[in-house]
Amino acid sequence: MDVNVIQVGPLMVNCYIVHDSENCLIIDPGDEPDKIINYIKNSGFKPLGIFNTHGHFDHIGAVKRLKEEFGIKFYIHESDVFLVKESASHGAFFGVMGVESPEIDEYVKNGDVFDFDGLSFKVIHTPGHSPGGVCYYFEREKTVFSGDTLFELSVGRTDFSYGDMDMLINSIKNKLFSLGDDITVYPGHGEKTNIRKERENNMFLK
Ligand SMILES: [Zn+2]
Ligand SMILES: [Zn+2]
Repeated sequence: MDVNVIQVGPLMVNCYIVHDSENCLIIDPGDEPDKIINYIKNSGFKPLGIFNTHGHFDHIGAVKRLKEEFGIKFYIHESDVFLVKESASHGAFFGVMGVESPEIDEYVKNGDVFDFDGLSFKVIHTPGHSPGGVCYYFEREKTVFSGDTLFELSVGRTDFSYGDMDMLINSIKNKLFSLGDDITVYPGHGEKTNIRKERENNMFLK
């Protein structure tokens, strides 16, 4: 399994292409669908699904186009459906116009295990930044995609009406730190990090 990152949109979301030699999964295609489509076509990977860490507009802006282009399913936690539905107005509030809400095909929930031809991972529900925030954990590769739950030396904002800082901190300490110090963390924005670095140095988690 390998990870490629394509930074998209004005909020510089990390869209991750998780792949082996043939297939790929797309995590958080937030914007710039043409850039993502061209990347996948040029790489020759067959996309098998779109998995979102949460429903914020900056993470879902390219989902509709990718679904149309590749005919693949879009997966997200049910508790973030309201965010997907509000994505156009939420985007406009941040000055990003024309975000289109995609149709959701399937819900993910805590403990779900997926296996796409050997690309296998588990869903960890990590609410706090949003009610339906999840992380995708690739156990064999010691890799977790943390969305806007955990960043390098920071954490996701919780100042929206549905945000909850205590819940976010609990999610990180109880569900992510317990994965082990040697786990690589790929966040929704910014640089990759690892659990040890965050456990020892992240001021929000002291
Ligand atoms: Zn977010
Ligand atoms: Zn974000």
